[in-house]
Amino acid sequence: MKNGNLSINSENIFPVIKKWLYSDHDIFVRELISNGCDAVTKLKKLSLMGEFDEPDEPYRIDVTTSANDKTITFTDNGIGMTEEEVEKYINQIAFSGAEAFLEQYKDKATEEQIIGHFGLGFYSAFMVADKVTIETKSYKDGEDAVYWECKDGLEYSMKKCIKADRGTTITLYLNEDSYEFANEYRIKEVIDKYCSFMPVEIYYTNADEPQEDPKDATVDVDAKEVSDTADNAEDSKGPDADDTKTEEKKPEAPKPLNTTTPLWAKHPNDCTDEEYKEFYRKVFHDYKEPLFWIHLNMDYPFNLKGILYFPKINTQYDNLEGTIKLYNNQVFVADNIKEVIPEFLMLLKGCIDCPDLPLNVSRSALQNDGFVKKISDYITKKVADKLSGMYKTHREDYEKYWDDINPFIKFGCLKDLKFLDKMKDFCIYKNLDGKYITLPEYLEAGKEKYENKVFYVTDEQAQSQYINMFKAEGMDALIMTQTIDSPFITLLEQKNENVHFYRIDAELSDNFVGEELSEETAKEYKDKLTATFEKALDMKNLNVKVESLKDENTSSILTQPEETRRMQEMMKMYGMAGMDPSMFGQGEGETLILNSNNKLVKYVLDNPDSDNTATICCQLYDLAVLANRPLSAEAMTKFIARSNEILGILTK
Ligand code: ADP
Ligand code: MG
Repeated sequence: MKNGNLSINSENIFPVIKKWLYSDHDIFVRELISNGCDAVTKLKKLSLMGEFDEPDEPYRIDVTTSANDKTITFTDNGIGMTEEEVEKYINQIAFSGAEAFLEQYKDKATEEQIIGHFGLGFYSAFMVADKVTIETKSYKDGEDAVYWECKDGLEYSMKKCIKADRGTTITLYLNEDSYEFANEYRIKEVIDKYCSFMPVEIYYTNADEPQEDPKDATVDVDAKEVSDTADNAEDSKGPDADDTKTEEKKPEAPKPLNTTTPLWAKHPNDCTDEEYKEFYRKVFHDYKEPLFWIHLNMDYPFNLKGILYFPKINTQYDNLEGTIKLYNNQVFVADNIKEVIPEFLMLLKGCIDCPDLPLNVSRSALQNDGFVKKISDYITKKVADKLSGMYKTHREDYEKYWDDINPFIKFGCLKDLKFLDKMKDFCIYKNLDGKYITLPEYLEAGKEKYENKVFYVTDEQAQSQYINMFKAEGMDALIMTQTIDSPFITLLEQKNENVHFYRIDAELSDNFVGEELSEETAKEYKDKLTATFEKALDMKNLNVKVESLKDENTSSILTQPEETRRMQEMMKMYGMAGMDPSMFGQGEGETLILNSNNKLVKYVLDNPDSDNTATICCQLYDLAVLANRPLSAEAMTKFIARSNEILGILTK
């Protein structure tokens, strides 16, 4: 028997641990199971080197809970420990490791979190347990088994004991706050979270339930089977049929909770599409099929494996929110560690396993780590390569996916200029014919008609009137209807100095104008019409422009300068429009374009004072507004009344 004090001397180490790691108490499961995996791995290595004969029974880890006893045990059949090893690895290393860990971080603010809390190791058991015991027997012949016990993580006692099998059993006597971990569903949930892909099979047993002897189990199942058959199908099956059925039915062998070889660990050439999809369903519980995926597989200069999926997103209903799970040698670390994975990639779903990551450092240190930066750049590059490769060799697929993936790509371009550089030539846009074209293709096609102007549509329905005009004139525009398009347009303008984007209703292109009016006539018309319209509409400072448009059926059009509209949208976004509505009201800076070739406009010009002129002016104005944006409630009421009035004339 040996007693001693552990080297941890700070008496308030528990409060520190508890406060500090409060939300992540469950990581003790990961730590103890991964120690079991390590113990098995060590033994496997020894047997590879011929220093240990491969055992008949398979390597495994067993987790057993008893809610009655409030205990949880972890058993492995790995390398085990001798008495000296317990002394060294548990009493000295495990505890000094924990001490160093806490010493380093206890004063740091909570935002200085340590990724995955690596370093606490075995000691993490004391986050949830008052008492921890170890029973261990080394693989070495002739070594005694050892029993070790420690209360509150401060004093321990050690003695020889009887243990039949090689390996280690660790028992936690849970503290009051942690009884939840003795619950079958809770512990399975935690194992699933951290250990789904650990390299040794993990089995669970609920010690409170009567354990079935495999032999009894067979009898049980048989009996049930016979009575079921008798109940459900009395006349159709004779006793012979029953016999065959009972023979086939063997008790199911218990299944491990984990998968020991995750798909990412396999070579991409050995994985089928079905396997990728299955893995996706299993890990992300997403039953929509992913669009496509990228299998990362790198050995040099660092080791990194993983699979990134492009999920099918319903932009209308789903959040653009993915999950990237980070693993370290098949041990789950955490989701969405933005220090390692570029932010825009968080929109994807995937697993990344990088054994080389220094995870026992703080987040801020990780952020400034050149190595981590390299990893992050590598992932970004791989994603860009995959996308540009698809553009070049499978353009049809690329176009098919574009609607789903473009918010992701645009977000990536906005967040990471390197990604923009790689992707800018592979961004495509739907044009007015519903075809996908690139920006250079658009500019090339419109070289003569609109030079470096890029016209775009943000709402195909609302802007249909303008679209029709464009189509009639053989002009094209890009459909850019997503929220992210607005900042993306700004980015494109910054990166392509001479290119400017105009919403399709921002200005009237010269292409629509037929024979130009002389300056004099234009001014005369403008003055006259402005006065008549202002009077009819009861408005001041109406901005009127008179053009002789080719299409004489077009009477009135509203345009709003791009700059003003963008400013207005920005104000709205920041909630500033409410401050002074007159300053940034709807339609700020808009121009009413009147077609001097249209007979209604001509009528107003020639008859400024006739009875019907005011009605025509109001109607022409409302029609122009309607083709541009919804009418206000008040204007709509008037518009309907006036329209009825006009129709009434037809009945006379
Ligand atoms: P780490 O795993 O990072 O070395 P831990 O605190 O988790 O730190 O464990 C300390 C040491 O205790 C391990 O390195 C190992 O030598 C020993 N150990 C812990 N658990 C086991 C086990 N189940 N079987 C054999 N050795 C173990
Ligand atoms: Mg460990």
